[in-house]
Amino acid sequence: MNPLIAIDGPAGSGKSTIARAVATRLGLSHLDTGAMYRAVTLLVLEAALALDDGEGAARLAREMDLECNERVVVNGRDVTAEIRTPAVDGAVSRVAAHPAVRRELVARQREWGRVHGGGVVEGRDIGTVVFPGADLKVYLTADPLERARRREAQLSVGDEQLSSQAVAAELSRRDSLDSSRAASPLLVAEDAVVVDSTHLSVDDVVEEVLSHL
Ligand code: C5P
Repeated sequence: MNPLIAIDGPAGSGKSTIARAVATRLGLSHLDTGAMYRAVTLLVLEAALALDDGEGAARLAREMDLECNERVVVNGRDVTAEIRTPAVDGAVSRVAAHPAVRRELVARQREWGRVHGGGVVEGRDIGTVVFPGADLKVYLTADPLERARRREAQLSVGDEQLSSQAVAAELSRRDSLDSSRAASPLLVAEDAVVVDSTHLSVDDVVEEVLSHL
């Protein structure tokens, strides 16, 4: 049986980079649960559903065929780039707030953990709700300016260009929606190790995470 490592934290905290690096170091599989909420959001936008239509979004989630590996493939279509557009960024927290959507995706995440016998799972509610018995829970954070800077660097390699202010505003809007929603809000699990990555390199954070295992 492999260890199950939960990595939670706000947008731009470096979760994906760290989760991937920790998984590689330990030879474990990695699951980005944010990509799953983004995939459902893309389907919602394409179907032109209202963002408050929780039942409609949950139906799309239940019916979707989803592969979430290096590439994200929904119903046979590679949407790896499409799930990272500003349109999806702007809608994902509203779609992810619906309890019926979360029920479906949480069930799939637990099934992934069962099939892989452990792994590194990143998201917002992994240590608190999805895998409360995880072997290690990490809550990764960084100060808001640094998170906006990282997010901007990520975006500037794509085709969409946003101003620093727009990026910072979008992050703080998503943080407040994710932290204030009724269903599985972003919280620090009681038994989580909190790592502030503001002044740390990727290697430093990875070493710190591994030191707690
Ligand atoms: O991790 P990422 O920023 O790609 O996640 C996109 C959005 O998906 C988050 O802002 C949040 O609304 C939602 N999410 C969630 N629960 C998770 C992972 C992501 O609600 N476990």
